[in-house]
Amino acid sequence: MDQVKHTIDDLINQASSYLHKKSNIDVIIKAYEVAKKQHEGQFRKSNDPYIQHPLEVAYMLSEYHAGPNTIAAGLLHDVLEDTEITYDKMVELFGEDITSIVDGVTKISKLKYMTQEKVLAKTHQKILIAMAKDIRVILVKLVDRVHNMRTLEFQPVEKQKKIARETIDLYAPLAHRLGMYRIKAELEDLSLRYLDPELYNHIKELITIQREARGEDINNMTEKLNTLLSTTDIKDFKIKGRIKNIYSVCDKMQRKNLQFDEIYDLMALRIIVPTVEDCYHVLGIIHGEWKPIPGRFKDYISTPKPNLYQSLHTTIVGPNGKIYEIQIRTYEMDSVAEFGVAAHWSYKEENKNYTPQKEQEEISTKMRWYRDLLNYTEVDDDNDDPMYKVKEDIFSASVYVFTPRGDVLDFPVGSTPLDFAYRVHTEIGNRTVGAIINGRIVPLTYKLKTGDVVEIKTSPNFNGPVESWLKIVKTSHAKHKIISILNKRQREMLITEGKADFERTCKAEGASSIKLDDKLIAKNFGKVNIVNVDDFYYEIGKKSLSSKAAINRILGRGEEKLDDEALIKHYQQLESKAKRSTNEFGVIVDGLEKAQIKIASCCHPVYGDDIVGFVSKGQGIVVHRSECHNNFSNNQERMINVYWDSSTDNRRYESQLLIISFDRRNIIADIVTLLTGVNNLTIASISSNKNKQNNLQTKLKLTVDNVNTLDAAIKKIQMIEDVYSIERVIK
Ligand code: MN
Repeated sequence: MDQVKHTIDDLINQASSYLHKKSNIDVIIKAYEVAKKQHEGQFRKSNDPYIQHPLEVAYMLSEYHAGPNTIAAGLLHDVLEDTEITYDKMVELFGEDITSIVDGVTKISKLKYMTQEKVLAKTHQKILIAMAKDIRVILVKLVDRVHNMRTLEFQPVEKQKKIARETIDLYAPLAHRLGMYRIKAELEDLSLRYLDPELYNHIKELITIQREARGEDINNMTEKLNTLLSTTDIKDFKIKGRIKNIYSVCDKMQRKNLQFDEIYDLMALRIIVPTVEDCYHVLGIIHGEWKPIPGRFKDYISTPKPNLYQSLHTTIVGPNGKIYEIQIRTYEMDSVAEFGVAAHWSYKEENKNYTPQKEQEEISTKMRWYRDLLNYTEVDDDNDDPMYKVKEDIFSASVYVFTPRGDVLDFPVGSTPLDFAYRVHTEIGNRTVGAIINGRIVPLTYKLKTGDVVEIKTSPNFNGPVESWLKIVKTSHAKHKIISILNKRQREMLITEGKADFERTCKAEGASSIKLDDKLIAKNFGKVNIVNVDDFYYEIGKKSLSSKAAINRILGRGEEKLDDEALIKHYQQLESKAKRSTNEFGVIVDGLEKAQIKIASCCHPVYGDDIVGFVSKGQGIVVHRSECHNNFSNNQERMINVYWDSSTDNRRYESQLLIISFDRRNIIADIVTLLTGVNNLTIASISSNKNKQNNLQTKLKLTVDNVNTLDAAIKKIQMIEDVYSIERVIK
């Protein structure tokens, strides 16, 4: 198949038919020159100099009336990938807009096409669209593919089949969704030619024969329609013949199990008129003249196809009982049918308010399906909680990364290797000790970028997750997994503690003969919903049931008279007491209503500080400041989430400050005077001594209502002359 080879002059001529500003043509020429220089010495498989390819791509874009930046990007589309020019250099030469289109095309070209399954091809389309971000990127990519298909004969047979398969599964449907009939038909037919040459040639021949056989009929019918329409006041109408493309004929035969001559719409006549009213007017005339076949009339004007296609379709029994499909549409509808979204975005120089963003918005509001694609629902593999299906806007908020095998996974922006690990498998997440991105070791806090190849290092000896991971992961999937494992672990720990407590108390109470089993527990504690031994120990571990009371209950000891009613009452008392103690410091513990809470005496957290809870043996939960070095980093499984209860007020917290200053007269008086002026702050004690450097070291104990008051006080003290440093004490 000989290709017409276009020159830069052809391109300029074509572009000049709708671009009239010199600056617009200049940018195209500049792009051509840079691309030509960069591809110098490179050749296509056809032996053409490489530049011929981007030139043809640009030419096709100009046929679609693409904007100057899109055409320039078409000329440059292989430059980032195949030459030495970098992204930054291209920005310097051509600016962000052109470069980002080129970069988008480069990225989606790298996307590995993995499968022939239709379903996955659909997913792939979504990913491709999301990665492209800009519909102009898809246009350039489609046109690039058209030219590669036109020159496919120069590739080895294996590659021909692979590329043709990819084209038919991925790019042709994409063109269809964008309503770009011409590109779709060309991609389909070229693909079929390589995938099934025999079928292709057979159908092609049948179509040729049919066309010859029906040529006269079609001419007669056209003549009749002409005469008929001339009697109306529609002056500016056009009648065209249209033939189905080879692939769609094959497809229809196979899908509907039809013979070739059963395909009615093989040849259609198309009537193009100025207005929508004209369309219905013409339809009326035709239905008045010839008998329509019932069930074959379709009104795509009142209900356009999702790809914006609009037209009236009817099939009639014409002269001599021959069947004709007739399509009626306006000139504008015809252009949309041929060019799809491209017809909408055709570059209009006179539009001063044009911006690429505006163009995108316009297109996506026009195309409902495009929106649908961009709002897709993450379907979680192993979680059945419907609340857990998170909607994410993949258009603006997703990154696409690859597994080492080349599978694509998508994540919200800000996700880390841990999100990736938990997506692959919970066990992989739990055993993650490191991550390698694009061959480089990165911290687990690394933020994934589109195109990253992510490899997770795991160790069978590591038993994650750890609490701090909750701050690293972004996806609710990973969070949910980590929390559920931590909760489970904490429950196990409390069961162990409860068991130890119970056994200790049994010994002390001389009740070692008690042998617990689920039946015994259910009998004695079923009314308070404690029905098995684990639950029993858990309640004791949480301190919501005291071992002593439990032993009395089990042994039926009279002194506390713990019959069922009494036990419930006791339980309720414990609960309310626990609740009060929970609220004594205004701290809420994740997942535990009745926890015993203490405020750490090493770091003295005050309301508003970042805090963590630490489960200490025999002491319940001790609340520390997050930065407290006593935070037992080798004991992370004992750390749990705690929060300040925002509904609390009028509470006071102790805090300790250490001030280092020059030992001058009255400095302590200055500090005290200043602090007495701070609202909601009381000085509890103050003491001073000299340190080794002979500076004055002043320890202050204060009570404050919250961290803001404390911060304000610290700032004020810093302003005092001769104060060198001030810090909150962590022992
Ligand atoms: Mn290319």
